[in-house]
Amino acid sequence: MDIQAELISIGNELLSGQTLNTHGRDLGEALQNIGLRLSRDTTIPDDIPIIGSAIDDSLDRVDLVVVSGGLGPTIDDITRDALAELFSRKIVLDQPTVDKMEIFFEKKGKRMSLAATRQAQVLEGAAVLNNSVGLAPGQRIETNDGKIIFVLPGPPNEFNAILSEEIMPWLKIKYAHVKPLIVRFVRTQGIGESDIVTILEKEHFQPLDVDLGFYPGKGRVKIRLSSTADNENKVLEAQARLQGFLAEHIVTEDS
Ligand code: AMP
Ligand code: MG
Repeated sequence: MDIQAELISIGNELLSGQTLNTHGRDLGEALQNIGLRLSRDTTIPDDIPIIGSAIDDSLDRVDLVVVSGGLGPTIDDITRDALAELFSRKIVLDQPTVDKMEIFFEKKGKRMSLAATRQAQVLEGAAVLNNSVGLAPGQRIETNDGKIIFVLPGPPNEFNAILSEEIMPWLKIKYAHVKPLIVRFVRTQGIGESDIVTILEKEHFQPLDVDLGFYPGKGRVKIRLSSTADNENKVLEAQARLQGFLAEHIVTEDS
């Protein structure tokens, strides 16, 4: 079973080279651990029409979309408005978040500004996901045809807290029947990537249903073989064949 999810990373700073987009790596790894697959990470600017069309396109392809960024208090944070427009739903104030923010500002001896309350705005009908390390909550939106959109703030510590505390437990229940992907590695030393490919071409090595990834570095090449749980035998067979073809160059293998 191949359940795919897409990530849409929103933020001008991600495109202008000021911020390294780390969400794809973190989400991809978390999903893979429960047998789901991050199939696309699209990075887009803070722009309402672009956000709308990116989410729409993702929903055409997959049932699960994670949207990050643009939920802060500043005027460039327009992800909520884009969601409201796309789904024709109102933006509402989430009172528990307002209460939490009031306590936060009171402790700091400050008054909560109108701009700050923007972070307590969520899409009507969304499930509000607790943010244990920041103010803007996450949201889970379900479309009329049962597709799921998670919306998360951009700062990596907030993104990862909501991912691990709210989203992953929910996904583990929803996709309890999905088994983790089978992933194996073959590691070589003293042979370049192109020489490996030449050998594999000569041997007509094109394993069915097994994804191959090559990761060269420092005189070594790591080859990753992966597939869904029902293809475990195909992965193991491909791994054994690879080890045979590259026997002289194998260093260590692990799963
Ligand atoms: P935002 O939720 O758009 O207000 O994002 C706040 C901050 O989080 C940005 O200024 C970035 O520094 C950081 N950030 C947003 N998106 C990402 C991302 N995909 N990867 C890493 N950092 C991010
Ligand atoms: Mg932003």
